[in-house]
Amino acid sequence: MIQNTKRNCPICNSKNKKLLFRQKFFPLSDGSLLTSYDVVVCETCGFCCADNIPEQTEFDIYYQEMSKYEYQDSGGKESEFDLMRFQIYLNTIKPYLPSTKSSILDVGCATGRLLSLFKESGYENIQGLDPSPVCCKVAAKLYGILVQTGNLWDVEIPEKSFDCIILSGVLEHIRDLDRALSILGNMLSDDGILFIDVPDASRFSMYSDAPFQQFSMEHINFFSPISLSNLVKHFGFFELLSLQESYPQSANTVSTSVMGIYKKVENLAPIYIVRDQLTQLDLTTYIKQSQKIEECIHQIINDVVNKASPILVWGTGTHTLRLMETSRLSQAKILAFIDSNHRYQGKKLFDIPIIAPDDIKNKHEPILISSRVFQESIKIQIRDILKLDNDIITLY
Ligand SMILES: [Zn+2]
Repeated sequence: MIQNTKRNCPICNSKNKKLLFRQKFFPLSDGSLLTSYDVVVCETCGFCCADNIPEQTEFDIYYQEMSKYEYQDSGGKESEFDLMRFQIYLNTIKPYLPSTKSSILDVGCATGRLLSLFKESGYENIQGLDPSPVCCKVAAKLYGILVQTGNLWDVEIPEKSFDCIILSGVLEHIRDLDRALSILGNMLSDDGILFIDVPDASRFSMYSDAPFQQFSMEHINFFSPISLSNLVKHFGFFELLSLQESYPQSANTVSTSVMGIYKKVENLAPIYIVRDQLTQLDLTTYIKQSQKIEECIHQIINDVVNKASPILVWGTGTHTLRLMETSRLSQAKILAFIDSNHRYQGKKLFDIPIIAPDDIKNKHEPILISSRVFQESIKIQIRDILKLDNDIITLY
């Protein structure tokens, strides 16, 4: 059994926290990282994060074993939306790099697509780091890019090795932010820069997603431009750039992020923490909105349960785990769950088998799509790719 522990504020080290929301998850049958966490706000600096969570080593094991970032289903290719975002990163970082000889490390690089854009732009001194061993093989095969398997704690990288370190969608996953920032500082050359992109928790309420989806099992830090700036300055970085960005995440959803470029500075003067008021305000609005949307979803699920006919449920991620815990979905006659991720196929959820999309070709039951972000693309997959005419039940 994984032990959950409380943590001090990763930015100002304060113990004073206020509970905003308790998020619950439903575990996969063979064990899971988390069954719940507390969304809290630091009463000193206003940083919002998940508390009562496992230690960093448990997260490390989880990412190594259950990597969802291998793009197995699409042969190692990212979506067009990822590509659009990577192009923005490239354009943002390039002006801060002195030459195409600059050495670049992408931490959590997945299959190396972002680095491949740098390579196409003439940068040769590039490498990646990712906890999943599959990413290393795929990056070498697709783009001829070196990716080390590991994480920040165990990788052997000499001090001052890189002129630029990229952390896109990484810091929101890390419990030990202080350790991470000091290791990154050591890896950077004297004039080195850090590029960071994280979800913008001060704008969660502005963009639609599934209710409470932002409080996913894997996202445990909820940054805003102010709190990200507080964090990096606390660890000796000078802010060169701070931006709020929005990107399409799928055909019908948008994600928001805070993006920044920071320079390592020796003996930086002591910094003053700026209190973040906005994140708590926005998360409170987001929680209320999510509760409202959830009421509508519960009504649709109640109708399915009351009909008492067998169904298939597409999706076994956080979205489904949450519905199994908080709605009557567990009382529906679910014949099977469908998931494209091969790591889940063959396992069981709630004692019900998880099968691959190809395995439903001879099944004629209605399919309930349990996803907001991928709802439209799953519909297309059912109708146009699998060519099935099963009834489709959508929640949004
Ligand atoms: Zn704090």
